[in-house]
Amino acid sequence: MKTFLALDLEGSNLRIGEIDPQGKVLQQKLYGAEFEDQAGAVKIIEDSLGDYIRNVGWATGKYPVAMGVGLVGRVDPRQGVWMQIDSQRSDPTPLADMLSRNYGIPAWIDNDVKAATQAVQRFELKSNNFIYMNVGACIAASVVADGVLIRGGHYNSGEVGHAVVDIDVGVTCSCGRKNCIELIAGGIGFDKTARLLAPKYKTSLTIPPEGQRVSMEEVFDLYRKGDGLCTRMVQNAADALAGIIMNMVKVTDPDTVVLGGEMMTNGDIHGEILVRLNPTTVRFVTGGVVLTGLNPEVIGLIGAGAMAMNNYEGKRI
Ligand SMILES: [Zn+2]
Repeated sequence: MKTFLALDLEGSNLRIGEIDPQGKVLQQKLYGAEFEDQAGAVKIIEDSLGDYIRNVGWATGKYPVAMGVGLVGRVDPRQGVWMQIDSQRSDPTPLADMLSRNYGIPAWIDNDVKAATQAVQRFELKSNNFIYMNVGACIAASVVADGVLIRGGHYNSGEVGHAVVDIDVGVTCSCGRKNCIELIAGGIGFDKTARLLAPKYKTSLTIPPEGQRVSMEEVFDLYRKGDGLCTRMVQNAADALAGIIMNMVKVTDPDTVVLGGEMMTNGDIHGEILVRLNPTTVRFVTGGVVLTGLNPEVIGLIGAGAMAMNNYEGKRI
């Protein structure tokens, strides 16, 4: 059996694992990954991979046939260049060639959400027209239209976290716009918005010192108990996400919208989104606006594997 080595740089962790052709994670290990810049991240990738090969080894006793790496930020998957973490941290790095040379197998890299989208297409949906939206600390989406994963002229497509829908919370984004949906429905945004709105609502929510984030578990727990602030924030988030989903549906005409990411895992926001969707607007979304069936904890890892498989087979979605 051929296997694929997969790496997913997610937030402050690096997950490394081996995937079989059906998308099953055969084995995996999670590494801490605190880095300031791309050079720091590459060092962590190389050190962790060294540890993985020494201490976890290969599931079948044979070397994987190829590797895929999912990364935060802007990635040129054709040239294998990791272009930037964000607009302030740009150090174009030919990571795919470096890895391929060092480990002796073909290596491909991609943005983490675009990699997860390939897992959804390969193992879950088999659709040529869908949207995958990741709602985690930040928000991004990938559009597959007519079988093509839209990347854009600068590999910067799908940054819908910085779109604005008709909700005025009065919060300013680091991108310069006001009320970007990421600030209303993303994990980091919930924290910012909670601090901004707390004085205006009756609430039992613990607001921790700056530098620590509001607990989402507590937010959802209090929302279920009818807490004023938490209800407002969950409703704002659902309004923001339903708004962007309907806007995207009108632009790209998908048959399915798949939602993933840590903010979607408990189901509360999903239910609130569904009741806000205008039936006429989403009438052609016959597959529904659904939560991914892939385990959210490893969807990025499976995505890195799926991306390696697509490239290995010469398929580029
Ligand atoms: Zn923004």
